[in-house]
Amino acid sequence: MEIFHIAAECYPAAKVGGLADVVGALPKYQNSAGHLVSVVLPRYETKFINENEFDCVHSDFVKLGNFNFPFNILKERTGKLGYELYLVEIPELFDRKEIYGHEDDIERFVSFQIATLDWINTRTAMPDVINCHDHHTGLIPFMMMYANKYEKLKDTPTVITIHNSIYQGQFGFDKLYYLPEFDLSKVTLLEWDNRINSLATAIKCASAVTTVSPNYLNEINYSAYGLESLFNLVRYKSRGILNGIDMEVWNPATDKMLEKNYSIKNFKKGKQENKEKLCAEHNLDPTKPLFSFIGRLLEEKGADLLPHAAAMSLSENYKEINILVLGSGNTEIENQLTHLLTSFKGNYNAVIGYDEALAHQIYAGSDFLLMPSRVEPCGLNQMYAMRYGTIPIVRRTGGLKDTVIDFGDNGNGICHDQASVGDICYSIQRAVNLYKDKKKINDIRKKGMAIDHSWESVCQEYIEGYNLILNKNEG
Ligand code: ADP
Repeated sequence: MEIFHIAAECYPAAKVGGLADVVGALPKYQNSAGHLVSVVLPRYETKFINENEFDCVHSDFVKLGNFNFPFNILKERTGKLGYELYLVEIPELFDRKEIYGHEDDIERFVSFQIATLDWINTRTAMPDVINCHDHHTGLIPFMMMYANKYEKLKDTPTVITIHNSIYQGQFGFDKLYYLPEFDLSKVTLLEWDNRINSLATAIKCASAVTTVSPNYLNEINYSAYGLESLFNLVRYKSRGILNGIDMEVWNPATDKMLEKNYSIKNFKKGKQENKEKLCAEHNLDPTKPLFSFIGRLLEEKGADLLPHAAAMSLSENYKEINILVLGSGNTEIENQLTHLLTSFKGNYNAVIGYDEALAHQIYAGSDFLLMPSRVEPCGLNQMYAMRYGTIPIVRRTGGLKDTVIDFGDNGNGICHDQASVGDICYSIQRAVNLYKDKKKINDIRKKGMAIDHSWESVCQEYIEGYNLILNKNEG
């Protein structure tokens, strides 16, 4: 089957978070399973894109209302990623390093979607399935069905995969003219809460909806930033598929970013050496348990609780624990985390920014990974942590609930119910006690490392989903 994935991120070409990891891995495994898979994303100014070679396979102008932007479709030359990577180059809109956060994000991503469909529409054969990811590609199912110029794509089935329902790509009807001419009787499909809502449009129009974990699919029926009733309505065409992890990229036995490679057979020594290097580089004490956090410093991740929870835990366990934070996001949280450095030097550090190599080193060198998330549609960090023998401490929500069971119930991690300073500190205290029981902690680490979160079986679930909608279309 020929599958197109269309997204705003794809590792290693452009990454902000988990969306990139999924769009960089799932296509690779679908391709190995015998399908012909392509990924389409905008051409940003990223290191990977600048350092690799692409061929221009199509050029045209994309029309956004009364603007015309020249665009090119670039194809990665070697195919080394395990799927065909296409970049939509619209220099005026995407010639920037930052993927999101621009004033003209709506213009950028609407143009990206139109240019992508303009190009696909020129092909002689249409793909069997188009899998869109998150709101940046949410208008595609609508335009394929109802925009006059995409008549050829009308019957191609589409899937919207929801990685996060917080971000919905809303904009006013004053920008309706950005869209190519379409059947006006369908205009209400674009609307949610009196605005054009890209994610809601995709949920209404796509042939199928998937979420990145089964538990998240349950949660969004009662908590989805205003889209709850819509999710209830489309339950019949929805399924929750737990993300896998790329076992090649995330493998402590071969990971080139680590100080020392290790496997389940020699993880005690391997982790210790990585911990020593990490602690030396960040002025921490390698003889004490190391708690880390990696991620976007936002309320949805519970990051606003970290400064207070870190200060309390470090004070209560004076010099008995280390805490290391890597992330960026909300400036106030960043400042509070940086400010703590003055009080807890030697046992605490915070790196504000994005650093892929350091993230790998933290998964390898830490004892525990904190994830007090308020919202976590799937969460990949806990799976990476376990693969690297680090015990996740999670709030029971979304995909964290699907993947982490408390060690008190014979599980693989530490769980708490509330996103609160008290619950985080209580869990840290339990971890400090667990750390003293070497046999028990090593058994839990081993259990985590042995879990198979690979994409092979997950990829099959996506294919089953595609087959269902293909059969429906044919029947
Ligand atoms: P989300 O997509 O909501 O940010 P996920 O858990 O699904 O969360 O995925 C997060 C991904 O981003 C992981 O690969 C994690 O290692 C990575 N990541 C997040 N923040 C940073 C950072 N500051 N530096 C390096 N990697 C990061």
